[in-house]
Order: sequence, then C-alpha cells, then structure tokens
Amino acid sequence: MEKKRIVTGDRPTGKLHIGHYFGSLINRVKLQDEYEQFILVADVQALTDNFDNPEKVRNNVRELVMDYLSCGIDPEKTTIYIQSMIPETTELTIYYSNLVTVARLERNPTVKTELAQKKHVFGENITYGFLGYPVNQAADITILGGEVVPAGEDQEPLIEQCREIVRKFNSIYGDVLKEPEIYLSENKRIKGLDGNDKMGKSLGNAIYLSDTPEEITRKVMSAVTDPNRIKKDDLGNPDVCMVAYYHKLFTGKEDLQKVCEECRAGKRGCVACKKELAQNIIEYLRPMREKREYLEAHPEIIDKVLLEGTAKAKKEAEKIMKKIKQAMKLDYFGNINK
Ligand code: SF4
Repeated sequence: MEKKRIVTGDRPTGKLHIGHYFGSLINRVKLQDEYEQFILVADVQALTDNFDNPEKVRNNVRELVMDYLSCGIDPEKTTIYIQSMIPETTELTIYYSNLVTVARLERNPTVKTELAQKKHVFGENITYGFLGYPVNQAADITILGGEVVPAGEDQEPLIEQCREIVRKFNSIYGDVLKEPEIYLSENKRIKGLDGNDKMGKSLGNAIYLSDTPEEITRKVMSAVTDPNRIKKDDLGNPDVCMVAYYHKLFTGKEDLQKVCEECRAGKRGCVACKKELAQNIIEYLRPMREKREYLEAHPEIIDKVLLEGTAKAKKEAEKIMKKIKQAMKLDYFGNINK
C-alpha cells in the first residue's frame, strides 16, 4: 500500500530545544516509518520577520539539519530540503494570492496571536510578506502533494486556511490539488524553565538539544520551584514546581513518584532535586549531543542530505506545477516546464 505523504518543516532561526523535541521531533521520528515524510527548512518563511538579517537565517540552516539528524530523523526515510531552492513554491504562492482575501488573512487566529506576541498592529507595521505567510505555507504543502500535516492545535487555523485555498483552486480550475488533513500532535507544548507557557530563545528559558552538560546544569539550577518552600523540611507542592514538571519528562516512573512523595513530605532539598534532574537530562540528551558533535566535524554529511533531499523535492514540485499550469491555462508552447 502506498504511504501517505507528510509535509512539515521549521524556520531556520535558531537551534532546536526540548520543547521542539517533545512537541514535534519525537513525532516525526515515529511518523517517518508510517508515512512518506518531507521536511522543509523554511528559509523563505524565516525571512518574513528576519528579512534584514539574512545571515541569521543562512547560518541556522545547517544547525537545524544537525538537530534533525541528531534526534533520529533518518534521511533514508525522510526527505529534508531547502524551501528557497524550490522556486515552484514561490510561483504557486502568487497564484494562490488571488484566492484569499486580505480580510481572511487578518482574521486567521494563528496570525493574530503571532502579531500580538510581536506587538505588531494591523495597518501599521505589518508587511505584505508576513500577512501572506499562511498562503506561502499552503503552497509549501500542496506543491509537494502533502496529504497530512502534523501540527499542534495552535497551528490548526493555518491548515484550515490551506484547505480553503485548495478547495477554491479546485472549484475554479478542476480537481488538481490534494486537500491536506491535520495530524494533531499528542504532545503538548512544553513550558519554559521559568514557568512560561512557551519555551523560546527570546524568553531565555530553553534547554537546547545541543547544550553542554555544564549549560544544562546551570539552566536547571535556575528553574522555578515551589515559591512557598524556604527550608528543606517545608512541605512542598511539586504541582507548582518546574523541576517536578521536567522530572515527568526525563525521570523514570518510580523515581518520579519518589521525587513527588519526598517533596510533599519535606524530605527532599530543592538543590539535590535539581542536580538529579540535570543529570537525567544530560543522560537523556547524551546520544543526540554525541551525534551532533560527529556531524559538526563532518559538514559534508549535512550538505549531501540537503542536496539530495532538495533535488528529490524539486522533481516532485515540477511534476505538480506542470499539472497546475495546465489547469490554469498557463501551459504555453507545450511542455516548456518539463
Ligand atoms: Fe520542586 Fe524538587 Fe523542590 Fe519539590 S523538592 S519544590 S519538586 S525542586
């Protein structure tokens, strides 16, 4: 039976952290066996809010791929490619831009949330490119015939926007494009070390997959604990402690139970508890860190993965673009695009 095709990706704007790992990477490692998976390094999309800092985007392309391979994404099973090297995506974005209104983009809840986070205001400092990134994302998915898109609930409006564009396209030009389904990720968003709902570089509350043991220890020692606990024998509440929260991710079931019981009974010191957690995170991430160190010493591996992946994705995109142009009556002079 033919495997369904997944298209997903990330913007190359920084190294990946444990929030990315539990939020999406762990899923992608699992899904690469069940689906035909394409992962795009979304450099064009990264420029929507980094257009004045192209160095940052370029420098993070390899970092991102090193994180992918370190955590178990296998280039034999998953095609990893660079978005800007598939010009068909840009072309399709233009065609799609006629099929969506500005008002609809302004109403997109994901766009609204991002704008609020960046403190941007409609009509003032929003670029055409930023407002249109859901259209570009729809082109990314459909130019490769994406059937399934793994995403969290917060990304659902973007997939719905893509589905709307596809329906509109097919209703005007004929049944050419596949309407993708969302694959809702089971893993919730991972909170930051400071208790913030989001983990992120700009918030300074993240543990990166590539952090050294020293960095991990330093960061864990700064994590927020139960504020009512002053002395070691004060009765604690692990439900309000970020250290206990991370123990749930990195510590075995029995040891986790012990952490919570001892905390509640006032028999566990926060410093020792943090040191234990730091050690567990260090051990958990050790294989990824070691693989990354190897890849850092062998950049030719990353180049090969990207070159081969991009060539494969380009071939797929060309096939689909040919059908799109035929449907849109843009196939002048025969198969000029073959
Ligand atoms: Fe948190 Fe551990 Fe301190 Fe309890 S003992 S408050 S779980 S750091």
